[in-house]
Amino acid sequence: MSSPLHDHGVISRYRQYLPVSEATPVISLNEGSTPLIHSPRLSERAGAEVFIKYEGLNPTASFKDRGMTVAVSKAVEEGSRTVICASTGNTSAAAAAYAARAGIQCAVLLPAGKIAQGKLVQAYLYGAKVIAIRGNFDQALQLVRELGGMPGFAVVNSINPHRIEGQKTAAFEIIEELGEAPDMHILPVGNAGNITAYWKGYREFHHLGRAKILPRMMGFQAAGSAPIFHQRVIEQPNTIATAIRIGNPASWQAANAALSGSTGAIDIVTDEEILAAQSWLASNEGIFVEPASAASVAGLFKLGRVQARRIVLTVTGHGLKDPDAAMMTGDYRPFDADAEVSAVRRILEEK
Ligand SMILES: *Cc1c(COP(=O)(O)O)cnc(C)c1O
Repeated sequence: MSSPLHDHGVISRYRQYLPVSEATPVISLNEGSTPLIHSPRLSERAGAEVFIKYEGLNPTASFKDRGMTVAVSKAVEEGSRTVICASTGNTSAAAAAYAARAGIQCAVLLPAGKIAQGKLVQAYLYGAKVIAIRGNFDQALQLVRELGGMPGFAVVNSINPHRIEGQKTAAFEIIEELGEAPDMHILPVGNAGNITAYWKGYREFHHLGRAKILPRMMGFQAAGSAPIFHQRVIEQPNTIATAIRIGNPASWQAANAALSGSTGAIDIVTDEEILAAQSWLASNEGIFVEPASAASVAGLFKLGRVQARRIVLTVTGHGLKDPDAAMMTGDYRPFDADAEVSAVRRILEEK
């Protein structure tokens, strides 16, 4: 049983703006309410007040939890006993955690041979059934779609519209905290669900009079994986930022609407820029994010000085999601020292 006293997730906070009713069981891990951190050093570089929405502090360490609490709650309401997805990353982690919380099954379908153990560590621990399909990713996704049409199954991939509904709550939180929408919002773009969700959230609160302005939505894709920027499907998307390695985004049209409706723009950043931004953010602001998230910061660096009063950057996932990529941002090795105070001090005094 859930206790109202301990239920502080996005459904309990924003129930009247979400597709839930009294009949919806709330499956929550107290996601959302993530910190909006003022960044003095980024503010100086941009010539604007810059805030970082740190979504890596959600229960499974990415913003996917906001959408998954709604998607899994609706799945349970509709009588599903199994949620399914085709994902090696943050979607499978969130689906598995919320399914565990709901006491239902989670199935993760993936192409055999392409399954990197490390990426699925959360899914395994949360108790998901990881199924290796003898076929490619498209075939796995096709199976997910077919199973989703059968009784008892719910698809929780990006095509599930409830995910966008849950994710829009991040924009609500930002408006509540700043007392107004920012002039500009920067975020990484993969399947483009999140840029769609933020734009929906900003417009809904604007419509309700909770914000007077709407931000320009600025999306950044990885250079090797930029279908929206190039306006064509990328057959072999490639980037270190695995969470945005998407060649044919599920919410492509909605993203275009967000970009044109907000007089925003989509641009690209290289893997080198992403890794540099990742280590910059960690060592200058104490915020450790995964490579995809660092695309926001790399994007702001690329924009340079910006005509805006306030800018919000979403950093989408925690740096500990992908320690191997993080270790590629530098030549990290300990300094050797004799077991003497003077030896340690000598190292500390070096430039
Ligand atoms: C899913 C994800 C993205 C991309 O979001 P889309 O909604 O697919 O555009 C970016 N960063 C992280 C960490 C993610 O998990």
